[in-house]
Amino acid sequence: MKDKTKLVHMARNHAKAETQAVNPPVIRASTVLYRDTDTLKSIRARREGNERVFSYGARGTPTTFALEDAISEIEQGVRTMLFPSGLAAIAHVFLSVLKPGDHCLLSESIYGPARAIAVRFLRPRGIDCEFYPGGHEEVAKRLRPETRLVYVEIPGSIIYDLQDLPAIAALLKNGENTLLAADNTWGAPGLYRPIALGADISIIAVTKYIAGHSDLVMGSVTANARTAEQLCHDAGLLGQTVSPDDAYTALRGLRTASARIAMHSAHAMEVIRWLEEQPQVDRILYPPLPSHPGHEIWKRDFTGANGLLSVTFKPHIKQDDVDRMADRLKLFGLGASWGGYESLAMVYPEGGIPGWKGGALIRLHIGLEDPADLIADLQQAFEGLPG
Ligand SMILES: *Cc1c(COP(=O)(O)O)cnc(C)c1O
Repeated sequence: MKDKTKLVHMARNHAKAETQAVNPPVIRASTVLYRDTDTLKSIRARREGNERVFSYGARGTPTTFALEDAISEIEQGVRTMLFPSGLAAIAHVFLSVLKPGDHCLLSESIYGPARAIAVRFLRPRGIDCEFYPGGHEEVAKRLRPETRLVYVEIPGSIIYDLQDLPAIAALLKNGENTLLAADNTWGAPGLYRPIALGADISIIAVTKYIAGHSDLVMGSVTANARTAEQLCHDAGLLGQTVSPDDAYTALRGLRTASARIAMHSAHAMEVIRWLEEQPQVDRILYPPLPSHPGHEIWKRDFTGANGLLSVTFKPHIKQDDVDRMADRLKLFGLGASWGGYESLAMVYPEGGIPGWKGGALIRLHIGLEDPADLIADLQQAFEGLPG
C-alpha cells in the first residue's frame, strides 16, 4: 500500500473490536480489572515477556496502542513507544542505550535541547559525548571500540544539512556494539525512513507535523528488531506514558498529514520563488533546492519536503536588522516549534546555531495560508531592511 492509503487506514482495527466507529475510541484508564487471579497471572507473565497488554493505564491504553501501531507502520519498525514530548523520547534513547564509559557520536546540527542533554546530563555522568561536523567520513574517523551510539538528525535543525545515512549504517555493520539512532522529526510522517535506510532507532517529535495543529506535545521512539526489547522494557521501567486524549488527537492529525505536508511544501516553493528575487537574501536553505548542500542525498533518500526553510542574508544585513524585520511580520507568528497549520518565524542569537558559520538567518515555517498573503506580509516586513 502507498503512504496516503496507509495514513488513512492504519491502526483502525483498534476501533472495530469494540464499536463500528471509524476511529479507535478514547479509553481513559489507570486501573484495569482482571477477571480472576489466573487471568492476572497470565497477564503478568505476558508483561514479563515484553508483550504489550492493556493491564494498567501507565503501561498504555488501546488508544495509545493504536497510535503506536500507526507510527510503527509508517516508520517500518517493530515497536513504537510514546513519550510526553519529543525531547523526552530523545532522552529515553540516551538513557536506555548508554552507560558510563561509553562513547557517543552526535552530529553537530542536532536539535539544541538534545545537544544540551549530551553536554549537561550525559557528560557529567561519564558518557563521552563527541560532536562531529559533516557526514559519514567524519563518523568513520571517530569510531572507537567503545562507541555505543551514533546519533544523527537528517536534515539537521535550522540549516537542514544532509548526511548519507546508509553510508553511516554501513560503517557500523560489523560493530555488534554500536547502535544508530536518527531524529526523524523533519521527515515524519513518510518523507524519510531511517530504519529502512539502516538505522536501529527512529525518533519523532509528534508535536510537529503528526499533531499538525499546535495543540499537543508528544514524542515517539520506533525500534527495529534488534533494539525493541530493551527500549520497550526500559520505557515501562521508567514509567513513560502519554494520555489517551493526546494519543487520539495525534492519530487524528496523522490521518491528514500527507495532504497538509503536500500543501505546506507547495506553499513553501511559492514563497521561495519570491524570496529568491530579493536583493537582501543570500541563500535559502531548503533541501529540495538544487543549490542546497547535500541536495543529491535528499533526492535519493526522501520522498518529499515540508514547509520548513531558513533564509540567510547578504553580509551588510545584520541579525539585528533581521530581528526587527521579524517584528514587522503580521501573519507569521514569532514562535518556537513548527508543523502546525500556521506560519511561524524564528530568529536565533548570533553564533548560536551549531554548524552555521554564515551571517544573519531567519527560520520560516510556511503554513496553509494563501501564499500570496504570506508573500505580501514578507514584502511589507522586508521594506524596512537596508537595501
Ligand atoms: C521540536 C523538535 C524536537 C522536540 O520535540 P518536543 O515535543 O518539542 O519536545 C526534537 N527534535 C526535533 C528535530 C525537533 O524539531
